[in-house]
Amino acid sequence: MTDSWLDTPEHTGFGLDNLPYGVIVHDGRAPQVAIAIGEHALPLGAATEAGLFDGVVPDTGILGAPSLDRFLAAGPTAWQAVRDRATELLGDAGNAASVRPLLLELDAVSNPLPFTVADYVDFYSSRDHAENLGRMFRPDSAALLPNWTHLPIGYHGRAGTIVVSGTPITRPHGQRLPAPGAEPVFGPTTRLDIEAEVGFVIGVPTRLGQSVSVDEFADHVFGAVLVNDWSARDIQSWEYQPLGPFLGKSFATSVSPWIVPLRALNEARVAPPRQDPLPLPYLLGDHWGYDLSLRVDLNGTTVSRPPFAGLYWTPAQQLAHMTSNGASLRTGDLFASGTVSGPERAQRGSFIELTWNGAEPLRLDDGSTRGFLTDGDTVVLSGSAPGHGGTRIGFGAVTGTIQSK
Ligand code: CA
Repeated sequence: MTDSWLDTPEHTGFGLDNLPYGVIVHDGRAPQVAIAIGEHALPLGAATEAGLFDGVVPDTGILGAPSLDRFLAAGPTAWQAVRDRATELLGDAGNAASVRPLLLELDAVSNPLPFTVADYVDFYSSRDHAENLGRMFRPDSAALLPNWTHLPIGYHGRAGTIVVSGTPITRPHGQRLPAPGAEPVFGPTTRLDIEAEVGFVIGVPTRLGQSVSVDEFADHVFGAVLVNDWSARDIQSWEYQPLGPFLGKSFATSVSPWIVPLRALNEARVAPPRQDPLPLPYLLGDHWGYDLSLRVDLNGTTVSRPPFAGLYWTPAQQLAHMTSNGASLRTGDLFASGTVSGPERAQRGSFIELTWNGAEPLRLDDGSTRGFLTDGDTVVLSGSAPGHGGTRIGFGAVTGTIQSK
């Protein structure tokens, strides 16, 4: 079944093969879990009350909840059962009469953050991105540090400042060096940047001491969202040695409101890039990349189209690495890929790369130029993946507008 009885315009990317999960607020009422279909949302609380999910999962309360937390924790059997039932409800025309009255227009609802973010990890898995930054900041040494091809580099970020698409981004203040050798000053960042990334959401937790093998990726990961890792480059470059990213990153990270289930991305699986040297055995197994196409728009001008398929470290390797020491997973953990950049200039996923640290400003369609972001600028990160028969699986978008403090 690939078509819904409901009109699902192709540009939405929310066809019957996708069925992403989010949370909606409609008409000032309590938040409820929902599935997006075309230009509509099916609220699962209302659908459950109408008996449409009777017997599908042992506790249909997980569908009537105000967030996805309990559904995420329910695991792959429940995820598949609900997906199968939703496919029937929205695909079989015999269900139209009972489902149609429950549908809400996406334009008429707002989307809060759909799950409670537990822990947040950000990786650094694009070789092109890592090499670009290496060339900029360490021009006299090798572009990659020696550990980069042996393990997926990452750091623990700040879960409490992850915000949903549409949340305004306040230009952070911080400490920076105005010039090499000068004394540090405190004030608003002058190098506010983005990082176009894809994040994976953990459903099934682990106990302390347990590791997740590469092969077990789909037993724990529910789905994927788009991530914009806002970055203050001047704060970052002054503070990051020797312990890594801190306040130049933690002020805000934006995510898209609809979680695309892993199941919807099966058609997008691609072989991972060849890895040389061969990683250690704990990073090997049955794993794959995803052929996701990202797009970055600044004030209406498309400035980049980063390709996710070429990422050096796959999401399964990232998960295996981050649990290899026995660190436990919690439901709602989010781990992001790191900036997605391809080999071409127009495939770079950050302004620091697109403008080569501000030296080569971008020209926008309105005639203005940008090195880094100006107050009032709006960044839209969108993405899609191949679906069945030439269709596209859409991620929607994550947007943010910069405001001064
Ligand atoms: Ca990042």
